[in-house]
Amino acid sequence: MCIFCKIIAGEIPCSKIYEDENSLAFLDIKPVNPGHTLVITKKHYQDIEEIPAEELAALITSVKRVGELIKSKLKVEAYNILENNGPSAGQIIPHLHFHVVPRYPDDGLSLWPSRNFEKEDFERIKNKLLS
Ligand code: 5GP
Ligand code: ZN
Repeated sequence: MCIFCKIIAGEIPCSKIYEDENSLAFLDIKPVNPGHTLVITKKHYQDIEEIPAEELAALITSVKRVGELIKSKLKVEAYNILENNGPSAGQIIPHLHFHVVPRYPDDGLSLWPSRNFEKEDFERIKNKLLS
């Protein structure tokens, strides 16, 4: 059983902040910022490819609720929503989850370095995606 399934089963404790029929949200044990929350499905799906679209819709609705909760209760202006899909993307726990990370002014987080792409690179990638 994966570690998040153990949390759902109550075998490992968590700081639960939201729950409904299909999903559970709890504080990340190593938060990026105070209030960093993980939103997971109660059923074990490895990633976004494995979960059926209707269940993903329910999960993202829970993510939306958690975002609203964080915003109103922690009085933050904004938050990031992140899903690491696959080990090379940084997914460590193989149980689909969304991170909701509250953002505070001057918290020093910088998420994406940007690169300069040549026009040919855009064409090449677009053509691959459309082929
Ligand atoms: P990933 O890198 O897979 O997207 O993120 C996994 C997250 O789960 C990490 O941010 C990590 O801190 C969190 N995590 C790992 N184990 C536990 C745990 O037992 N309890 C809680 N609350 N969070 C955990
Ligand atoms: Zn699991």
